[in-house]
Parts: sequence; C-alpha cells; structure tokens
Amino acid sequence: MIKKYYEMTPDERLASLNLLEQDKQYLHNHQDSIHEQLVENYISDLNVPIGILKDIQLNGKSYNVPMAIEEPSVIAAANYGAKLLKTGGGIKATLSSPTVMIGQIMFKNIDFEEINIFVKSNQVQLFKTAQMAKPSIYKRGGGLKSVHARQVSKKQVSIDFMIDTKDAMGANIVNTILEAELVLFNMYESNIVGAILSNYATAQVVTITGSVAIPAVGGKQAAQKIVELSEFGQNDCYRATTENKGTFNGISAVVLATGNDWRAVEAGGHAYASRHGKYQSLTSWHIDGNLLVGTLKLPISVGIVGGAISAMPQSQINLAICNIDSADELRSVIGAVGLAQNLAALKAIANGGIQRGHMRMQYRALALQIGANKNEIPELVSKLVAEAYVDESIAKMKLMELRNET
Ligand code: NDP
Repeated sequence: MIKKYYEMTPDERLASLNLLEQDKQYLHNHQDSIHEQLVENYISDLNVPIGILKDIQLNGKSYNVPMAIEEPSVIAAANYGAKLLKTGGGIKATLSSPTVMIGQIMFKNIDFEEINIFVKSNQVQLFKTAQMAKPSIYKRGGGLKSVHARQVSKKQVSIDFMIDTKDAMGANIVNTILEAELVLFNMYESNIVGAILSNYATAQVVTITGSVAIPAVGGKQAAQKIVELSEFGQNDCYRATTENKGTFNGISAVVLATGNDWRAVEAGGHAYASRHGKYQSLTSWHIDGNLLVGTLKLPISVGIVGGAISAMPQSQINLAICNIDSADELRSVIGAVGLAQNLAALKAIANGGIQRGHMRMQYRALALQIGANKNEIPELVSKLVAEAYVDESIAKMKLMELRNET
C-alpha cells in the first residue's frame, strides 16, 4: 500500500523531493529524532546560531542569556547595550501581579447586559468548571482568577477568563479550561463565535527600566539625540516599526532560544504598541540629571515548561545557562535584553548610523558566502572594512588578492 505523505519517514520525504544528493545528505545529517515527533511532515532541522549576552544586570542579579538569531551584530549590540546599562546601576523589571493569561469566549448578536448578568450570577459554577477541567494547575497554585464580560461592539461581547498558568506559557491550559466552560453557555449556543486564548496578554505586561550615565553614550548631545529619536518613534509609525523591530531582535532571540512561541510574543507586542490608537515605539527615553533613562513596556507571554520547551533539550539547556527559576523571571530577562538591544541601536543611530558597526559582521557573512575559509575570514574582513564600497565582486577580488599574497 502507498504511504500517505504524513506516514512517511523523514528520509522517505527527502527522497521524494527534487534535490541534489548532497543536499539530501545535508538535511539528513541535520535530522533530530525528538524534533521529528514535534511537527508534522518533518524532514530536517533549521540550524540557527546561538550566542551569549554575557552579564546583563537585572534586579540585582547577573544573567548570561542565550540568544538564537541569524542576523549579524545583534548579539554584539545586546552585549554593548547591557554594558551601557550597568553604568546607570543595572536594569529593573516590574510585572503585572499575578501574571495571568486571558482566554475568550466570544459572542455575537447578544445583549451585553444580559450576558454580563449571566456571568456575574454564575461565578461559582464558572470557577468550579475551571478547576474540574485542569485540576493540576490548581495544585500548582494557578487556575482561574477572575471572569468578566467585556463589550466589544453593540452586539459583540467577549467573556474574558483570567487564568494563572504558573510557569507554563499556558495556551493549551487556557484552551482546555475554555472548552470546558463552553458547556455552561449552552443556552447561548447560537450566539457563540468561538473560544480561544488571547495573545494580547495585557495581564502579563513587563515594565523594564534602565539608566545610562550620559558620558557613556557619548555626552549630552548624543543623549539628547537618543531622546529625540525616541520621541520620533512615539509619533511616526515608520520609525516606530523599525525601532520595535530592533527591540524584537533581542526579545525574539531569547524567546526562540528558550523554546518559546515568538509569534505569540511578537503579536502581543505589536498590538500593545498600538494600544493608544496608533502604532508607537515600545520604548521611551528621557534625560534625568546625569542619566539617560529608558523604559520598555510590553506583554511577554512565555513559559519555562510545557509546549516545545520541555521536549527540546536545547531549550532546557538554554534556560539552564540563563539560570531561570520561573516564567516571571524569564519574562523580565527577555524584557531587559529588549531594552539593551534598543539602547545599542539608538546609540548607533545617534552617533552616525548603524552601518559602521554592522559592517564587520555583515562582511563575515559575505566572506562565508563567497567561499572564504575560516583562516581567511579575519584578514578578508579587515580588507573589506577599509574599502569605501563593497559588493560581492569586490569581496571576491579581495579574496583572490589575499590568496595570491599567501
Ligand atoms: P502545555 O500544554 O504543554 O502545558 C504545560 C503543562 O506543563 C501544564 O499543563 C502542566 O501539566 C505542566 N507543568 C509542569 N510544571 C508546571 C508549572 N510549574 N507550571 C505550569 N505548568 C506546569 O503547554 P502550554 O499550555 O504552556 O501551551 C504552550 C504551547 O501552546 C506552545 O507550544 C504554543 O506554541 C502553543 N499554542 C499557542 C497558541 C497561541 O499562542 N495562540 C495556540 C495553541 C497552542 P500538569 O500540571 O498536568 O503536569
């Protein structure tokens, strides 16, 4: 009998692809038996570099943070930003308390007052149902914390369930509870649109603050420029998008390294950036005496157990590197890396543009791309940095020169 695609082994799927033998072998060499169990139609792994942000000072503790990212310069910049933030006494994180996930049951063509009264008068049953649906999270001290109706439009209502999922990100925990709760709303069955968690995790907001001694950023003028850039990001969506992308360079790299769902964190972050009715930068900077003071505020929905985290040894190793004990601690570290990343980017722009700092790392990637070997890369990069203009053909020419010299 012919196997269905999903029934094939990874190698059988590889064999069915129109690929060079050497490429199939490459993909075969990068297979992982655990990852094969994680996703459907698995063929191989994508390897992303992991580097360390060494010693970021947060809430009086020093962290080594693994960052998984393919973009050159990001990890170097995060290290630099973290170093700058030490000059102002380290970073502080404060969290919503408790940090809870939000689950929604969504209704159409319904009167808000009616469903509001229903929810208020059935609280005992709503709490009992949640506990019965997921008793283990109650044993860990979590579970449903509150439930209320929220008017979305004239005829649309969301019943919001605030659920403490402890050290798990909690998407599955929330969905399990919501699906059990649906039964209580049987009489409104035809009004129900759906039930699922919300990734707009406004009850998991992390506020990160950090200061830098003004001389460390290049003096008063440079600090003022950083403030002006930050103000631009509050008013201009074009600037805000780029600034937030830079902040997410740090945030997403840690989220990914720890096996967390970076789509969830990014979706929540971008929604939060629009909370005032326009898309704005998630960070803001101002001058206070001799300090440049920055704040980053966004929801960060992550866990240290569950999902792929518990299944992937690498996530657990990365969490061990970071020496993290709780999801709340991880949220704080991720936010701190975001602020450090943002500061490094703003400082580079304020001091004449990011290209100068970026180019050394970009040229390493270019050197690899044109076939330079490990021993040739440092010298080739130095030659390219000295050039006013570099492209692939110039890089190839410089590599030839280098090879002729040796
Ligand atoms: P899991 O379903 O794996 O749940 C985590 C489980 O870990 C808990 O149910 C609990 O099980 C166990 N656990 C062990 N220790 C703890 C602890 N200290 N605190 C809490 N739980 C603990 O994962 P999540 O519910 O976290 O869901 C996350 C996954 O869902 C991610 O992979 C995400 O990508 C995915 N997802 C995301 C969606 C979204 O964001 N929109 C939608 C759907 C899925 P027990 O108590 O029984 O031991």
